[in-house]
Amino acid sequence: MGAPNVVEIQGLGKVYSPGTPAEVVALRGVDLVIARGEFVAIVGPSGSGKSTLMNLLGVLDAPSSGTYRCDGVDVAGLDAAGRARLRLTRIGFVFQGFNLLSRMTALDNVMLPLAYAGVPRRERAERARRALSEVGLAERAHHRPSELSGGQQQRVAIARALVNHPPILLADEPTGALDSRTGQEILALFQRLRLAGITVILITHDGAVADAADRVVRIQDGAIVADERRREAA
Ligand code: ADP
Repeated sequence: MGAPNVVEIQGLGKVYSPGTPAEVVALRGVDLVIARGEFVAIVGPSGSGKSTLMNLLGVLDAPSSGTYRCDGVDVAGLDAAGRARLRLTRIGFVFQGFNLLSRMTALDNVMLPLAYAGVPRRERAERARRALSEVGLAERAHHRPSELSGGQQQRVAIARALVNHPPILLADEPTGALDSRTGQEILALFQRLRLAGITVILITHDGAVADAADRVVRIQDGAIVADERRREAA
């Protein structure tokens, strides 16, 4: 088991095009600690730095300053292969547009990260089936994305994100392409996941979506301006 905190960020800064006329300070000295099993929403208006923070949390980009320990691992000490391994094993990604491969069945989509992680072929289908049944989609395993509703496609994407049992689920506007009722179902699924000890970090511009979380972190002009606990974490 790693540290009890799955995210420990200190003084995190991000400057795009430093030292040029196009320089943008997107994050300025962000401190953020997230414990295992929390359901946190990061909210803020367009341009506030949410995507920048998401890319740093997901180890998709490197900060200009500060430190980030992801599930106890200091990401600054990792090379590209180490960062890829960290993403594969510790972070599940969910996006607004689902990002499923259209020519593959739901089951094959969910099996993909298992192949990357080197799980033996005979175990992959069994584990992917279990992940699909955890999101209530066992009976849709052999359907392609085009044969599924938006909410079902997002649940397949969540099963894919969780199939390697990462401690962190990072969701970028996951309900943005869904009607509000279906969006609420996805948020209810996140609430159930955190009962299983998964840390859900949801990025959104929508305050109503953020209301589903236990804790709401508000970001503005690259800085955290509010950090509000609404419910006790699981
Ligand atoms: P949000 O996701 O909240 O809309 P972003 O993190 O995308 O905010 O953007 C924060 C600031 O950084 C904005 O001023 C944006 O224009 C700028 N920015 C984002 N990405 C880049 C980039 N790759 N190059 C230069 N500036 C960027």
